[in-house]
Amino acid sequence: MWRGAAVRVLRGGGAGSPRAASGEAAAQLRRRLESELEDIRGAGTWKSERVIASRQGPHLRLAGGGAGAYGAAGRALGLFPRCDARASLSLPAGILNFCANNYLGLSSHPEVIRAAVEALEKFGAGLSSVRFICGTQSIHKDLEEKIARFHQREDAILYASCFDANAGIFEALLTPEDAVLSDELNHASIIDGIRLCKANKYRYKHMDMQDLEAKLQDAQKHRLRLVATDGAFSMDGDIAPLREICQLAQKYDALVFIDECHATGFLGPNGRGTDELLGVMDKVTIINSTLGKALGGAAGGYTTGPKPLIDLLRQRSRPYLFSNSLPPAVVGCASKALDLLLESNAIAQSMAAKTQRFRSKMTAAGFTISGKDHPICPVMLGDARLAAVMAEDMLNRGIYVIGFSYPVVPKGKARIRVQISAVHSDEDIDRCVEAFTEVGRKHGALP
Ligand code: PLP
Repeated sequence: MWRGAAVRVLRGGGAGSPRAASGEAAAQLRRRLESELEDIRGAGTWKSERVIASRQGPHLRLAGGGAGAYGAAGRALGLFPRCDARASLSLPAGILNFCANNYLGLSSHPEVIRAAVEALEKFGAGLSSVRFICGTQSIHKDLEEKIARFHQREDAILYASCFDANAGIFEALLTPEDAVLSDELNHASIIDGIRLCKANKYRYKHMDMQDLEAKLQDAQKHRLRLVATDGAFSMDGDIAPLREICQLAQKYDALVFIDECHATGFLGPNGRGTDELLGVMDKVTIINSTLGKALGGAAGGYTTGPKPLIDLLRQRSRPYLFSNSLPPAVVGCASKALDLLLESNAIAQSMAAKTQRFRSKMTAAGFTISGKDHPICPVMLGDARLAAVMAEDMLNRGIYVIGFSYPVVPKGKARIRVQISAVHSDEDIDRCVEAFTEVGRKHGALP
């Protein structure tokens, strides 16, 4: 009996082959999941993962034979997964990458990699522990000190990701006596973090200061008010009106929280972020950000702000308390990235110059680029099909960009999002603009 069951479970393979759970409940679950997956495909919102065989950088090699055959590369990029007719077409040898958050090009910087290797050798693969039991090393404390210094705040606390930092702050800080006021387009992790807390919740219209003021007036009845906003919004490349937000916060005695994932390291004269760019470093109380984008791109996130807040998070914030410490190699990467930025703002300035080059050349070519001065450059096309077809045709020309349409962005606002990095050369930028111009003309986006 037992042997029979085991044989059924192992059907179709030996050691290492997947085992399907048996029983009616498991079969029912499988049917339900398959139907849900079919719905996602049917809705056209299926997300394919691209398989990259090289380091992150402006030039990529793709898995499956790399850059040669369209069939392998196209499938690796999730295009036409079932369409063999395209297998005979070919892609250019090198893929020029314009869709990573590698804003400063530090993901594959030799010094960042060396720092990771050194940390790995000296401090090991990982801590096998949460921070407060047996998981804090000198490099974790050093990195927290460096982050606080970089942002000119009192203290900082590390998390496994910024998603965790956002998931862990609101519940630890706010009670049913308090209120949180959140921009309607804030990142999913802020929305989830706010869901977890028991404060009174207000959602104001995207960057609408009149609406925020009305909500702040209503929230006066609560003990404490916290305004929460992304510093830079990743779909539109637009920057929160922090000066006005801080003025309102002052008027209505509120605190300001910003998520700086798409700003830390490169916005503002010294790359400190949106608060530096808009001259309100002393008005923003709490900053959450990531180590997984401009700061080396490995992983990790943090909160930086007043020391008692950081002390409280170490006692109360659940993603911090109940999740493993950041691995030393990851800490090494971020720490070196910050050293490079504390030394000089040359990398950030180089990225800003390339952003300017792309935005001005694309505008001159007749495209509308959303946002202002930000390396997220959404090429606005409106029509979802046009965005998909153009992104595909850009890839045929060896330029890797991604089209976004509803429900990721509002209906009628489909776009191709281009992200500029300090390690793109001027020639890379020009090649991208030329390809957009050709493809735009071909598909009627340009006259
Ligand atoms: N906040 C914003 C605005 C983001 O764009 C992201 C990542 O996409 C996150 C938070 C989450 O950051 P992490 O990747 O460190 O979890």
